[in-house]
Amino acid sequence: MGAPPILTVEQRAAALLKASQSRRRRADIKAKIKSGEFSIDTVLEIAANEDAVAKMRVRELLEALSGVGKVRASALMQRLNISPTRRIAGLGRHQIKELRNEFMKSSHAIKPGKLLVLSGPGGVGKSTVAARLRASGDFWVSVSATTRSPRSNEYDGVDYFFISDEEFSRRVRGDEFLEWAEFAGSRYGTPSSAVEEALLAGRNVLLEIEIDGAKQVKSHLPASLLVFLEPPTWEELIARLEGRGTDTPERRAERLQLAQDELAAAPFFDLVIVNDQVERVVEQLIGLTS
Ligand code: 5GP
Repeated sequence: MGAPPILTVEQRAAALLKASQSRRRRADIKAKIKSGEFSIDTVLEIAANEDAVAKMRVRELLEALSGVGKVRASALMQRLNISPTRRIAGLGRHQIKELRNEFMKSSHAIKPGKLLVLSGPGGVGKSTVAARLRASGDFWVSVSATTRSPRSNEYDGVDYFFISDEEFSRRVRGDEFLEWAEFAGSRYGTPSSAVEEALLAGRNVLLEIEIDGAKQVKSHLPASLLVFLEPPTWEELIARLEGRGTDTPERRAERLQLAQDELAAAPFFDLVIVNDQVERVVEQLIGLTS
């Protein structure tokens, strides 16, 4: 590589000015994408004529689009084979076509769905609420992967994907989970690809997960809505855990202790709903999607 050119003071000042104008122009374009004034098509057209915009990173362009956060942008780029550092100017014709198609489908023709995360202490009735929401057709409910063994009334692929510890570790290494956490000695994780696809297809998505995982989702996807389901009383929660009958006494005691710790997490959530009547909770959650 040759030595950098020696610039006069005036040339250096002019170069700095140009760089700051380019940065301002890109910030302006991003603001217009965010507000919905510019579509991806408009930006691609401008980039064909303006160097400053052509140098914008594809990742920045996608993340500025309404409903596309870091996780969705990166999943989309992986799928379209666009490297994370690629600039608009470096996109191939095929990639441009694919991006256009993608956003005809998602951001414009179809409004992306909402991501609702339902959490709360074990035994509070999350899975009953989730089952009702699935039946309502208003939500696509994610099926998690877990390392725990199936209970007698559970089916693989319906209640969970029951997988081995080794397989779970492999998926963690492969970055296949939107979030994952350890709970009562087992690991649980939300497969990201299915969630991404459902959201892009405009479905509202429900995750029924424990608190640690809910916090991870919020940090990846700030637009997600975290709902904490609370029991009407502590006594009621104990009664529900006792009545479950599918756990051993040791496991129940462990879950009771956990539930106590979990109840303290309510303030981290966007919304706290008391589960005094399942129908009312379900209605309230469906109402959040409109
Ligand atoms: P259970 O073993 O009773 O089915 O679930 C134990 C806990 O794990 C519940 O609080 C449930 O909401 C949570 N859980 C289920 N799937 C996931 C998941 O994918 N991620 C996280 N973080 N928690 C989950």
